[in-house]
Amino acid sequence: MALAGQAGVTRMIAMGVNAEHNRRALEMATSFPAVWAGLGHYPTEEPEPDLEEIRALAAGERVVAIGEVGVDFEHGSVERTVQVSRLGSLFALAVEVDLPVSIHNRGAAKEVAKLIGEHPGLRGVMHYFALGWRDAEAFLELGFYLSFAGLITRPSRGELRDVVKACPPDRLLLETDSPYGNAHKRMGVPNRPAYLLDTAEAVAELRGMSLEELGELETRNALALFTRMK
Ligand SMILES: [Zn+2]
Repeated sequence: MALAGQAGVTRMIAMGVNAEHNRRALEMATSFPAVWAGLGHYPTEEPEPDLEEIRALAAGERVVAIGEVGVDFEHGSVERTVQVSRLGSLFALAVEVDLPVSIHNRGAAKEVAKLIGEHPGLRGVMHYFALGWRDAEAFLELGFYLSFAGLITRPSRGELRDVVKACPPDRLLLETDSPYGNAHKRMGVPNRPAYLLDTAEAVAELRGMSLEELGELETRNALALFTRMK
């Protein structure tokens, strides 16, 4: 946390992926002023999401998102139809409690976009965005933000860097996805919030702006989406 602060990372969201992690995320958000919590249910988690508990915890003032939630057609053994139907319930809950969603998508862009369209009032971000411009455009048209991580620094990701350049300035967010999502120069070490700067430097360069300008832009966008965050 101290290193993140020194690096200029002033706000972080700890995203929960199951009941235990949701409680831990909330605990961290209560202990550290720079940390906020997301309450989620990862698509490959076998048990049903406990919607009642998520609804109850979502009333906490440190909770800023319903996430991580999503669909993953590339990992795990939870049936596709089950994943999509669970995500529908989590979307409905997010609209009900008026929180944005942070969406994980692996191999299911069409299904996720369709489901977003079926939930009027739903707002949120495509986390760890890794796709090309066609998919980016579909989510932008649905009013969603795109969040970029260390992946954009990897040499093979030219198409993704084009999305970073083309993303409307008011829809751009940054994240680490730590302990995953390393930048190219840090492969093999656990990622951490302070390393957000690797991604920020790359994005600033791609978009031809200073790090300070990007910092202001990104903070403004984060506060606009995560409305409970201060
Ligand atoms: Zn994810």
